[in-house]
Amino acid sequence: MKFSLLKILRLLKNSFAFNKPHHVQWMLTYRCNYRCKSCDVWRDQKPMKELSTEEVKLGLDVLRRMGVIEIVFSGGNPLLRDDIGEIIEYASRYFITTVYDNGSQAVKKINALRKADFVAISLDTLDEKKYDYLKGIHGAWRKTLNAVQILHDQGITVGVSPTISQLNMHEILDFTEHFTSKRIPVLYCLYQHDALEHPLFQIGEKDEELEIVDKASLTKICDALIEKKTEQSGILITKKMLRVLSTLYSSGKRNWECKALHSFFMIDPQGRIAGCHLQEPVATIFDLPKAWNSQKLDNLREKYRGCNQCSYMCYMFYSLHANVKGNLEIIKDQWRNAKSLTSL
Ligand code: SF4
Ligand code: SF4
Repeated sequence: MKFSLLKILRLLKNSFAFNKPHHVQWMLTYRCNYRCKSCDVWRDQKPMKELSTEEVKLGLDVLRRMGVIEIVFSGGNPLLRDDIGEIIEYASRYFITTVYDNGSQAVKKINALRKADFVAISLDTLDEKKYDYLKGIHGAWRKTLNAVQILHDQGITVGVSPTISQLNMHEILDFTEHFTSKRIPVLYCLYQHDALEHPLFQIGEKDEELEIVDKASLTKICDALIEKKTEQSGILITKKMLRVLSTLYSSGKRNWECKALHSFFMIDPQGRIAGCHLQEPVATIFDLPKAWNSQKLDNLREKYRGCNQCSYMCYMFYSLHANVKGNLEIIKDQWRNAKSLTSL
């Protein structure tokens, strides 16, 4: 992660701007070479025209003008796009740019990833058999661990991203210790299944084995991570977020309001925009600046504020850390990690 002075100044200016969408998740493709148990994306692989390289760059220009700070490229597997290097290079000039991989492509595309600010590699467990079962691919675990090590050795800022489910939750503290002790940060996701009708697209497949039923244990894990954060770096989740999750799993109380279409939104491979992947598209990336201040989007913001249809961790995070105050809270919380994540 290496920031130019111009990029730092731009990020600071936008971090202190009010009522801007600061976080964007861009699913660059639905294509994926894995068959994860938790995921719907690979089950519905229709041929689809994706935005071209030039269109993606024009879309990034739109986001730059709108004051976006952070872009997360995911999918499908975004590294399956042939032009991913060009896209990452362009995006990283202006945004904090994170790229997801399932561990299968990162080594092949290592030169493209050198420009990313952060590479998140999905890895749910240190148990080889369990991981290959979760991914539906023999050999996935070995390949993933190898990719994480190679990127780390090459000086690329890489972290592991476990999806916490009933099947791996009891290992999460040991898993965290294993990687943070090697100075490899951990960025958590939480297993969910999608329940809304007419989504932009489906991600979470309903699966009884993965559904978190041991809520008391999850609460304890959140509390233990809060403790751990005071002693060590590399835990890429804020204490505020952990407290909210702990309350959610101990009492069912949602201590946050969703900020979809306010502090964050989602873009699909065709450039359609929705508040999150579970909601309907409202504009395309090219007509978004005009639509952003419309009554229609204001009405949807109001509706989403009261929505309780998911607790995907990324959306919770963007909601809890929205606007200037939220950005300051992230900086304060992640200060310990800043040294290991940046080389200014
Ligand atoms: S979770 Fe990611 S890696 Fe797994 S099938 Fe879905 S898109 Fe592919
Ligand atoms: S709570 Fe927010 S992110 Fe979740 S489904 Fe509702 S609008 Fe989408």
